[in-house]
Amino acid sequence: MTKLDAKIPEGPLAQKWTKHKNDINLVNPANKRLIEIIVIGTGLAGASAAASLAEMGYKVKAFAYQDSPRRAHSIAAQGGINAAKNYQNDGDSDYRLFYDTIKGGDYRSREGNVYRLAEVSGSIIDQCVAQGVPFAREYGGLLDNRSFGGVLVSRTFYASGQTGQQLLLGAYSALSRQIGKGKVVMYNRHEMLDVVIVDGKARGIIARDLVTGKLERHSGHAVVLASGGYGNVFFLSTNAMGSNVTAAWKAHKRGAYFANPCFTQIHPTCIPRSGDHQSKLTLMSESLRNDGRIWVPKKLADAQMVQQGKLKPTEIAEADRDYYLERRYPAFGNLVPRDVASRAAKERCDAGHGVNATGEAVYLDFTAAFERYGKEQAHIHGQDENDKALVTKLGQEIIKAKYGNLFQMYEKIVDENPYETPMMIYPAVHYTMGGIWVDYNLMTTVPGLYATGEANFSDHGANRLGASALMQGLADGYFVLPYTIGDYLADDIRTGAIPTDTPEFDKTEQHVRDQIDYFINNKGTKSVDHFHKLLGKIMWDKVGMARNAEGLKEAIEEIKVLRDEFWKDIFIPGSDTQMNPELEKAMRVADFMELGELFAMDALNRNESCGGHFREEYQTPEGEALRDDEHYKYAACWEYKGRDKQSELHKEELNFEFVELKQRSYK
Ligand SMILES: Cc1cc2nc3c(=O)[nH]c(=O)nc-3n(C[C@H](O)[C@H](O)[C@H](O)COP(=O)(O)OP(=O)(O)OC[C@H]3O[C@@H](n4cnc5c(N)ncnc54)[C@H](O)[C@@H]3O)c2cc1C
Repeated sequence: MTKLDAKIPEGPLAQKWTKHKNDINLVNPANKRLIEIIVIGTGLAGASAAASLAEMGYKVKAFAYQDSPRRAHSIAAQGGINAAKNYQNDGDSDYRLFYDTIKGGDYRSREGNVYRLAEVSGSIIDQCVAQGVPFAREYGGLLDNRSFGGVLVSRTFYASGQTGQQLLLGAYSALSRQIGKGKVVMYNRHEMLDVVIVDGKARGIIARDLVTGKLERHSGHAVVLASGGYGNVFFLSTNAMGSNVTAAWKAHKRGAYFANPCFTQIHPTCIPRSGDHQSKLTLMSESLRNDGRIWVPKKLADAQMVQQGKLKPTEIAEADRDYYLERRYPAFGNLVPRDVASRAAKERCDAGHGVNATGEAVYLDFTAAFERYGKEQAHIHGQDENDKALVTKLGQEIIKAKYGNLFQMYEKIVDENPYETPMMIYPAVHYTMGGIWVDYNLMTTVPGLYATGEANFSDHGANRLGASALMQGLADGYFVLPYTIGDYLADDIRTGAIPTDTPEFDKTEQHVRDQIDYFINNKGTKSVDHFHKLLGKIMWDKVGMARNAEGLKEAIEEIKVLRDEFWKDIFIPGSDTQMNPELEKAMRVADFMELGELFAMDALNRNESCGGHFREEYQTPEGEALRDDEHYKYAACWEYKGRDKQSELHKEELNFEFVELKQRSYK
């Protein structure tokens, strides 16, 4: 085991980034034109990086498996993006955003990176406004803010419930400008299936044209992975159906360490599962917790009646409702961080208080908000504040303006009107804090291979705060990578174009070809989804919201058996010379099968609870996550050692010089 050097600059926290930018190597504009960079992914992290790098003068090739960058999973982001602008004058600052993120991540992230993230957060908003992103505004014209979990200020910028979509349109415009100028060559419907390493450096990729099936070789002086998160290892998640781990996993198998794979976020406000035949879960944005109150029936008898469809939530008296987050966490109430809210919902449902037929749901109720806003509106317009129907109507209009698209989405899926009856929600897999390990420059353990956005492990520790993923992806792409990559590329100005007719490209392409041929020729009987569902069930039952050593050991063995069955019995219809979604899925699920095992191993190795990683053996008497800073104050970075070989653990020790390590409390 080696200790990893994250290359964090020395010096005071607030000066590290500036000092680093002043110290690192630069590439002069004429030389940038000689350098090619491959960017995998054109979601927010990739599109912002590709556009910025091209704007700076580099030649960029960008890849996405969708038919347009606009279809990246980033488009799904609803609630907002954080920035420490202090527009609300509520005491926000770079330090507070830094501190909230470190605490929210349960002291398992790197101070230097997190401070830099806070420091550049304001510039992201300025950049996006300049691109025309239509952030919500207040009456006076200033940008509006709302609150997300784990913080006591309002710093979340938003565009209705479609923030990701609007930000992506901004990044896509910047990218399109460069495509138009010929500075970025965009490869839509292309999937990267391996990284090519030449003399220890990342020098290219093998990609498959998903329409023709043809394998292609692409070379570059550096490769950037912005390929998103791996929550779909659970089969059911709030991620887009196509989100997968393949790019990151292939890089891992070529030498990039994978950090903290078990750090996964289970989001508390998703539409509950309706049965066993579902293939997708839907998020109800955390922003709803600004105005919705979460509760379950206090009495078990009431809960049972609700479960049997004999009692409606609106028939349960106020005194018989348990607003359990407000009860347990009076300071943060419904805005506790996601991991805390999710576990609290599970605890109530496990105790029998769930509110749908499966017993796995709690209420998110807006009645109080209708009344609060309605009274205010009635007051403003000189109407009768005691007219209940009028007040409710006025209040509903305000809620509709804030979250109308989310309410509509809920009604379409559940077929219940959330203006009339409380929404039902339950935790679901949502985001992966773990990912490819990167140093302060966002470089992986493979020279020339970078990772940004959700694909890297970077800034969120053991739990990401809401509205911080968009901030991180765009910080990486617009403001960090464009500087740090130059430090590496400065040595490449005389390298010239990287040839693709070399043994390294031959061998890597053959490796990909062999896997495709295997799937196409295997005479199995079961579909990819059959295996993916089984994997997801093991992951959810034994590696999900609560984990214990025994379950994790079982999961590791069960995944091994399942993986063998998968390879033996998989059936792929069609051929590899045409569009073949089943083949695409098979290649992705093959990687999920390997990741799932490492994921469980990582969770087993970490004998503590922290953030979203909850080991039942390690909890406080009140059921909160109990960290072990003496033994686990590190990022667990796994090195791939080969098929059926145990991965090797390396540690990046986390030093907390600027915050005091405390047991997290939101009370
Ligand atoms: C429903 C939902 C709501 C959310 N809401 C918020 C929110 O309000 N605020 C917030 O901060 N965060 C939110 N998040 C999280 C946030 O949306 C994501 O973390 C973020 O958008 C990820 O961006 P990305 O660019 O890293 O990856 P993605 O947007 O997932 O993009 C990945 C890109 O990589 C490409 N790709 C992947 N693999 C390959 C390959 N092998 N070859 C070629 N291309 C490949 C894809 O085509 C795509 O272009 C939300 C997440 C979900 C699921």
